[in-house]
Amino acid sequence: MKTPISLIIDDAAPVVSVYCTHAGRTATMDGRPLAQYYPNSLFFRFCDIAERYGLHGKFSVVPMPGNLGSVAGSIEGVSGSDLSAWLEGVKQRLSPAFSICPEMLTHNYAVDLATGAALPLNEQEWASDKDRTALEPYIAKALSVLRDAGLDPTGVTSPWMFGIEVEDEYAAAISGALLDALGKKTGWFFLRTVTGRPKIRPWVEVKESGRILVAIPATTHDSFWCTIDDPRTGPEFVSSLADRLISKDGKSGELIDVLDTGGWPVILTHWQSLMSNGLGTGLSALEETARRIEEHLSDRVEWKSFASIAETVAASPEDFPKPDFSR
Ligand SMILES: [Zn+2]
Repeated sequence: MKTPISLIIDDAAPVVSVYCTHAGRTATMDGRPLAQYYPNSLFFRFCDIAERYGLHGKFSVVPMPGNLGSVAGSIEGVSGSDLSAWLEGVKQRLSPAFSICPEMLTHNYAVDLATGAALPLNEQEWASDKDRTALEPYIAKALSVLRDAGLDPTGVTSPWMFGIEVEDEYAAAISGALLDALGKKTGWFFLRTVTGRPKIRPWVEVKESGRILVAIPATTHDSFWCTIDDPRTGPEFVSSLADRLISKDGKSGELIDVLDTGGWPVILTHWQSLMSNGLGTGLSALEETARRIEEHLSDRVEWKSFASIAETVAASPEDFPKPDFSR
């Protein structure tokens, strides 16, 4: 059996930059205005690359991006036609190769579920002292908004390190919300990035009452993040970004390190890292990375969605124990 390989896209939302809403700055480090919106042309370019190279993974859709509206209704500054073209692209071109998930409601300020009003703290701060009874309705709401937008979420992504302070309560709440909101007994979530350990693979986080929740960790760093603050777009720069994951000759890089130690390569990146403040440099680097994976690793790895990985793990849970992170 080939080793599963998968791609994490965090922080995506229709047209609006969720990152810009919580970045706490208005300019890039080299002094350009921080982009508030990304044109759909860049979203379609991502779809082209995903289709061309057969990429699979998970794709976040932030349900109420940056407290600016709702993907199931309207979003401030985004036309109705751009919103529906983006959602249609997610449905028709990315699903099911990419498993869809919320990244909680706003990836910015937590909201009062009764009124939709923003609370004076961000979602991770809000979650940090909550138990399952408070977390479950919040997560169920996030799943329901995506369902109302016509999407089929199969798991959950944590904005920042949402829930890490109360991880057991958080995991139980996700599993409960998937069942309550969507009737799903098997699901997955992404919270942790785990690097520098041998044999890193997904694990079973919750197994009770016929429900299974699989934790899928990122196993590489986001190699493209620096493109937000770098105006360079040329081929040498793009090649150097891909090199961090897989070198031109396919012999070194984080992906090779993970594979050589028996782990599953799960590539982390963010929507803002691919958009590169409107330049799309990260998309070029992703394309070059995908090309090198196809050229050098086709006999070793196979692209898998997060839902498919969760099914594999759920089929033999005893083979996927949770690692001891205290060591
Ligand atoms: Zn995020």
